Amino acid sequence: MPHRFVVAGAPPGFDGKRLLADTQKICEAEIRFWHGAKAGSKSANKAPHRNYLFMLNAVDDGYGGLEHRNSTALICKRKDLPRLQPQANATDKKASEGYTTLLGLISHEYFHTWNVKRLRPAEFTRFDYANENHTELLWFFEGFTSYYDDLLLQRSALIDQGTYLTLLGKTINQVLQTPGREIQSVAQASFDAWVKYYRQDENTANATISYYTKGSLVALCLDLTLRQEGKSSLDAVMRGLWQCCHGGPMTEADLLAVLEGLAGRSFSKEIARWVHGKAELPVQALLERQGVAVQQEPSDLAQRLGLRVSESTSIQVKSVLRGSAAEQAGFAAGDEWLALEVGAGKQASSWRLSKLDDVALYAGAASIIGALVARDKRILKLSLKLPPPATRWCLAVGDKKLVSQWLD
Ligand SMILES: [Zn+2]
Repeated sequence: MPHRFVVAGAPPGFDGKRLLADTQKICEAEIRFWHGAKAGSKSANKAPHRNYLFMLNAVDDGYGGLEHRNSTALICKRKDLPRLQPQANATDKKASEGYTTLLGLISHEYFHTWNVKRLRPAEFTRFDYANENHTELLWFFEGFTSYYDDLLLQRSALIDQGTYLTLLGKTINQVLQTPGREIQSVAQASFDAWVKYYRQDENTANATISYYTKGSLVALCLDLTLRQEGKSSLDAVMRGLWQCCHGGPMTEADLLAVLEGLAGRSFSKEIARWVHGKAELPVQALLERQGVAVQQEPSDLAQRLGLRVSESTSIQVKSVLRGSAAEQAGFAAGDEWLALEVGAGKQASSWRLSKLDDVALYAGAASIIGALVARDKRILKLSLKLPPPATRWCLAVGDKKLVSQWLD
């Protein structure tokens, strides 16, 4: 099947051959995924498209993709493109972090050729491009596509198991660092996409959850549960849905029916809890049972304090996370954090801050510091109680055999 790749804005030394070869691996893996696992079979004949076009715009700073039926429009950072190696002995074929991100984007948008452009919410039976379209199912179409984008890079041998688990760990940390997961379910997040996800503000992290990231963890939990019960996998569920819905509109009831048919039991309790509820997902237990070592590593200071900031010449507070030390101290979005005061009496000293790391340097061993912030031209002094260090998840291969049963 002819696939074409157009790149605009590539720098000198761009390795177009490598991008083509790697993209081909992704396309072959995804056609095999949907239409049959046998190598050399004529599975491509069953694919719903007859040709495909990738359109990539390489820019100084940008990222994103939009799926069409037979093509995709992509944006990446120019420096993330693969480059020709100048030295003959440069045999390091390992993809850089930026290039891995680009391959993940290519994998994601190509997967949409099946999952959302054809298999799609019943509400999108006729795409209405003139109006907002509401559906509760974006956790499935965006979330499950996000689960498979990096997983299929691993299955195509473009990244190794360790790299895959690092990427998965990042997604888990993003969800765990979003207090909005206790406020909004992924089904609600999907339905509210037009008024919340597409209109983000300083309270987004506190009031909403991403149906991309949490949706991908719902896919992970379903996949591992199915595999550990020993009767099926999420791959089989995706193919089953494609067949039962004839590659067209589907509902949540269709997903439940396919799950029950393949697993031999109902999954309505899991879908109610994971998709329509707000409780934590059983990610850790499922990963550990699959041979993944779940470790904790120190998190950064922003996470420890509960702040999201931008740093240029000073610290600009973008968001204050609900339930955090920063919220307790009275920080607000829009504050400029200018300086800190530490110690009392003759020991007291004040320090100008320009980035968040300065806080650790000047606070020393203090447990409470004074934080001087500018808010609407007024200087305020907040009392900030420094909480114990925060941690984040770090995933690694524990039991190679169990992990391979899932990933390979
Ligand atoms: Zn998408």
